[in-house]
Amino acid sequence: MAQRDYYEILEVTRTVSGDEIKKSYRKLAVKYHPDKNPGDHTAEEKFKEIGSAYEVLSDAEKRAAYDRFGHAAFAQGGGARGGGAGGGMHDPFDIFREVFGANGGGGGGGIFEQFFGGAQAAQPQSRDGKQRGSDLRYDMQIRLEEAAFGCDKEIEVSKLEGCADCQGSGAEKGAHAVSCRDCGGRGQVINSRGFFQVSQTCARCRGSGMVIDRPCRKCNGEGRTEAPTRIKLKIPAGIEDGSRLRSMRNGEAGLRGGPPGDLYVVIHIKEHEVFEREDSNLFCEVPVSFSIATLGGEQQVPTLEGQAQLKVPAGTQSGTAFKLRGKGIPALNSGTRGDLIVRLIVEVPTKLNADQRAKLAEFAGLMGEENSPLNRSFLEKAKDFFS
Ligand SMILES: [Zn+2]
Ligand SMILES: [Zn+2]
Repeated sequence: MAQRDYYEILEVTRTVSGDEIKKSYRKLAVKYHPDKNPGDHTAEEKFKEIGSAYEVLSDAEKRAAYDRFGHAAFAQGGGARGGGAGGGMHDPFDIFREVFGANGGGGGGGIFEQFFGGAQAAQPQSRDGKQRGSDLRYDMQIRLEEAAFGCDKEIEVSKLEGCADCQGSGAEKGAHAVSCRDCGGRGQVINSRGFFQVSQTCARCRGSGMVIDRPCRKCNGEGRTEAPTRIKLKIPAGIEDGSRLRSMRNGEAGLRGGPPGDLYVVIHIKEHEVFEREDSNLFCEVPVSFSIATLGGEQQVPTLEGQAQLKVPAGTQSGTAFKLRGKGIPALNSGTRGDLIVRLIVEVPTKLNADQRAKLAEFAGLMGEENSPLNRSFLEKAKDFFS
């Protein structure tokens, strides 16, 4: 099946830097996020598509493989897939499955081991046709506050679940497993292609050599059916943008009672209106009036927990940063917490009325050299320049 080019999906050229890919991805992810487009199926598809493209292009190794081999770099089993049921329908999770494809489970062996590891083992499948379910990916957008303090989320995913009618076995009551007649129970069929004879996995029994004489009517013998499933997730405090959480056994149900795959939840943290995050520290800029900066006083500043009072010393210059210790983001899996850095920006008053203007002019007349420390040191440094 034709797949769209990943660079095109992310609306970038093939030569852009990783940063630009990230930027474009974020922009598109925000635009097409399901939260922003409720009920819009096209946007949802698009959102998944850009997630898949980013998964590959954001990783230097995968991107290099994609540049050389295209989508084929991430196809599994040398084209052995797709022969079975369910082919023909585009599945937005497909790329993800391939990237995290079930390769015997455990060990974290990703596509790269598979792809560069030489001989490709076909999908391991036991005699009874059991097969581990695919891993799934879910992209979740959360707020900075949720990332900072952690939160509980419940998501709904439509995925293959164990069939309730046959308890995942794929067989009607009283049915038996019999030898597959297409391959004579060998699990492989021989096809001639010109001079070559090619041994291929049998499409009917999917290599197991056995079929059920009366498959379950509800699931067509697959042992699993598509169903919406609600999954509870615990987002840990301090999680970073782009982190991937693994929800064990919440992926696709296995084929004919095989073990389920895992669900990977990729976290996207929404940009905050006020705070910028760098690791566990937060930064923000707060305007302060000319008079508070001059005379000193209290200034309200935002924190993740709400407003706080900052003591502003008299004579504070614009751009001065104040550290609010421990008001940043908790570090993941440790008791420590980052700081909040507040930068004060002194505001120049505008739209003065006649009275205000007169008072300020009078004030200016009273100003001496000692009242302008920055200007004094500037003139000191620049005196050679001006002379
Ligand atoms: Zn069934
Ligand atoms: Zn067969």
